Amino acid sequence: MDLRDHIRDIPDYPKEGIVFFDITPMLSDPDAFRHTIDCLAEKFKDSGATKVVAAEARGFIFGAPLAYKLGIGFVPVRKPGKLPYRTNCVTYDLEYGTDTLCMHEDAVEQGEKVLVIDDLLATGGTAEGMLKLVKQSGGDIVGIGFVVQLGFLNGSEKIKDHEHCFLVEL
Ligand code: AMP
Repeated sequence: MDLRDHIRDIPDYPKEGIVFFDITPMLSDPDAFRHTIDCLAEKFKDSGATKVVAAEARGFIFGAPLAYKLGIGFVPVRKPGKLPYRTNCVTYDLEYGTDTLCMHEDAVEQGEKVLVIDDLLATGGTAEGMLKLVKQSGGDIVGIGFVVQLGFLNGSEKIKDHEHCFLVEL
């Protein structure tokens, strides 16, 4: 199955000049969605990870079923003010400006093996933020997985020191 066939290109969204890669067709097709999770699980089945860390909102869609399939825990990374317990937060660079992501301070243990998952790698800012959060908690990043990579933005520079994979490269 070619997962590219299940990604819809939306020109000029959310603003002019940006092509938004919409993964909702992949989610609404049960075979494509199952195949996506199965491919990620196959890549990381021997990683030794005990947690999946993924950021809201689209990271949850792939991270949670992957954790279920691998039989490991899931850790949500969220925008400030959304998590109820004590958090660690990091601010990271976006193409224009900055953003902040938070994780519960006890979600990842010292030395714990962690997978970081997101739907799409663009500039790599979001991934870099998640890596910082996991490292702050003392976690050991054993793999980073994306459904889609936008190669022309060179986001993979930010994750090159870790084992990583993309299911669809654009
Ligand atoms: P970045 O931090 O630049 O790597 O952006 C990654 C996040 O922004 C991902 O979690 C995506 O959900 C979203 N994103 C950025 N650019 C696009 C795009 N062109 N199409 C779809 N999602 C995008």
